[in-house]
Amino acid sequence: MPAPRLYVTDAIVLSRFDYGEADRIMTLFTPTYGKLKAIAKGVRRTTSRLGGSLEPLAELRVALARGRTFDVVTQVEVTHAWLSLRDSLESTATAWYLAELADRSIEERHETEGLYVLLKRAYELLDAGMATGRVARWYEMNLADELGVRPEVDRCVECDRMLEADEEFRWVPPLGGVLCHRCPGPPAESAGLSVDALKLLKAYQRMDVEAIAALRLPPLVEREVEGAMRDFLHFSLDRDARSLAFLDEVRRTRPPVPRARPAAGSIPVVAATPETGATTEE
Ligand SMILES: [Zn+2]
Repeated sequence: MPAPRLYVTDAIVLSRFDYGEADRIMTLFTPTYGKLKAIAKGVRRTTSRLGGSLEPLAELRVALARGRTFDVVTQVEVTHAWLSLRDSLESTATAWYLAELADRSIEERHETEGLYVLLKRAYELLDAGMATGRVARWYEMNLADELGVRPEVDRCVECDRMLEADEEFRWVPPLGGVLCHRCPGPPAESAGLSVDALKLLKAYQRMDVEAIAALRLPPLVEREVEGAMRDFLHFSLDRDARSLAFLDEVRRTRPPVPRARPAAGSIPVVAATPETGATTEE
């Protein structure tokens, strides 16, 4: 949606760099206008009215004037500072990582309210002290959802069979999720996935974030899911370059399996039961 000549918006700073003698160019993430580049003139001078407020890892209320190349920041106020988020290096680094994922996922000037709300909520959770890894995985899974690339963790991505807990699976990001042991897959591009990791991936898709925060999990399973989601997003966010070539390769080696994907509503929704739990309660 094109912005009016003068407008006010909520915004989170995704990145910024110094420009000229005293200016700074910011990438702002907004709910209505998506990602946009804006210039804050004179912001690096000690006398600048804008200076201290135009910080990343905070929610701002920004007034902008449309410009030819960049919109110009005219006023800014901090609406959520999330100060506790910056208390630890780990949560600060996680917050930057989440911002970078958002930056890579969205286009300029496209309305992205869902993603904006997701990033804001993740920052609130980090600020409230939730474990950084849990916030990051929850965010990654929901980001994939928002981008329409939700990983398949209930059925085999090739034969569409419901996965059974007592079989072996592989995690194949270029194919979009889990491959069952019966389907031949490309060994170099897939990794074994434990049943606990599969359960945890399902939990990230189905449970609300408060329930996820309360799960007790072995660190090994958390690390496995971290690696799985990292690989998945690597392919999903670069899908033109990488996974298409890979998919072509896969298709060359064997005939395509016709499959009907289940409608979203037909996926059984399991709430926080021990089955989804991946919980290992003692
Ligand atoms: Zn299969």
